Amino acid sequence: MFERRPTRQIRVGNDKTGVVLIGGGLEGTTPAPVSVQTMTAGYTYEIDKCVTEINRLAAAGADVVRVAVPERKDTEALAEILNQTSVPIVADVHFHFKRALEAVEAGVHKIRLNPGNIQDRDQVNAVIDACKDAGIPIRVGVNEGSIIERKDKEQRKQELGKFFEKGNIGGKNAMLLGLIIAKLEEYMDIFYERDFRDVAISCKSMDAAFTVAAYKEVSKRFDEPLHLGVTHAGPKETGAIRSIAALAGLLTQGVGDTVRISYANDPVYEVEDGLELMYSLGLREREGVELIACPTCGRIQVDLFTLVQEVRQKLADAITAPIKVAVMGCVVNGPGEAEGADVAVFAGNKRGIIYVQGERVANVPEHEILDRLLEECTIFQRKVLAGEAKLGEKVVEIVPPDPIGELGSGIDKIASGNVEKATGLTINKT
Ligand code: SF4
Repeated sequence: MFERRPTRQIRVGNDKTGVVLIGGGLEGTTPAPVSVQTMTAGYTYEIDKCVTEINRLAAAGADVVRVAVPERKDTEALAEILNQTSVPIVADVHFHFKRALEAVEAGVHKIRLNPGNIQDRDQVNAVIDACKDAGIPIRVGVNEGSIIERKDKEQRKQELGKFFEKGNIGGKNAMLLGLIIAKLEEYMDIFYERDFRDVAISCKSMDAAFTVAAYKEVSKRFDEPLHLGVTHAGPKETGAIRSIAALAGLLTQGVGDTVRISYANDPVYEVEDGLELMYSLGLREREGVELIACPTCGRIQVDLFTLVQEVRQKLADAITAPIKVAVMGCVVNGPGEAEGADVAVFAGNKRGIIYVQGERVANVPEHEILDRLLEECTIFQRKVLAGEAKLGEKVVEIVPPDPIGELGSGIDKIASGNVEKATGLTINKT
């Protein structure tokens, strides 16, 4: 487990939605698990569609959902949307501070402000006061290019930029980093002057390496919790790499308290990938199945790619216990690589052999693998929930056959329907 940077803690939500804690470790608080956020892709004023989308995202595991409120008709829809949903909602406000006031009035659970486009101090003060009265936090999101005017900003940017250049911080973007820190210092002063500390900070960039440098610098200078993200990361295929490169780099250094992965795609993927990142780094207790699958190679004789996708989908719907399931292409490396899995299937020559905690329970033709695997997972989950089986308990050790000996790949032997006898794949009860 990585040591988390101690921060102030903020609370998002209420009794109806459940309260999501973000950050912690200072002022007697305990660090909360890193939460996963996303944002709706549709129009907020289309109430029914917006509610449906929010509920889908909550069902996928989103801890917090953000909606854009660019117009009055969007904030007018908020009260009904809040009425029909049960996950904390953040109103994303750009350009007009009145949208923030209207959103607070409607009962939203958090406001996101962009210092780049709400700059007037009186307007910011009005939003701060409204949030203070309502007891809700604000995220200050300084993306590249967000600027608030002040006389000495340019001077501060130059000072910091030169300092960062000298220390090789921020690479070729040292001046940009200087500008972001200068803007953030200035904006946060408005909040501090009004004694409002219920704030989270983000400083997203499109560049993964710069994102890491910027958040690290912000983490040294501010004790507010940090909302991590790579902005405009692009389509899922490349955006995933860009986002995970930056977020994993920061999280493993203890920086980051809530994340949003952003894709030009269905936001459900943002939630799924955000959660998987938390599980992979051990930052959250896994909920649902952990799927292990081999990449396949020349030994494969079933359509493993299709099988893995189908297994993933079916198990996500049917299994809630964190069962480790392995889908392996053959018995050569499969048994060794699937060691530790609660349920495993080894495929080959149009058949699949299924093990539950190392004990073989079935040998079925390819077209029956999916249903049988699902059935075995369901039975195993029932046993786990009834206390009759324990997750991760290794009751049987599987010793794989020698792949270059007379056993070959084992494919022919699987076809014979008795892999243990024919291949020498031994099951040693412990
Ligand atoms: S488990 Fe078998 S099919 Fe899959 S990659 Fe390993 S050797 Fe190849």
